[in-house]
Amino acid sequence: MFGCVMCNNPDETLVRASLCSKCEETKKIIAIYGIDRINEALLEIFVREERPIKNRVEAITNRANIPKKKEKSASQ
Ligand SMILES: [Zn+2]
Repeated sequence: MFGCVMCNNPDETLVRASLCSKCEETKKIIAIYGIDRINEALLEIFVREERPIKNRVEAITNRANIPKKKEKSASQ
């Protein structure tokens, strides 16, 4: 008996398969769209670059007329 090799789901004990039922579903979606498209979608949805976050903060700050904070240098 083993845990899922992808998500380590502790709720599902596996005897023969290496993936739990949820990861098996994900594997089917990957088979349909391809790993590159799925990876691209995951990066778009869940991983945010620092620049877009800064742009968003600046836009809100400017709109609200809030004075800008001093940026901390790496040495502080
Ligand atoms: Zn899993």
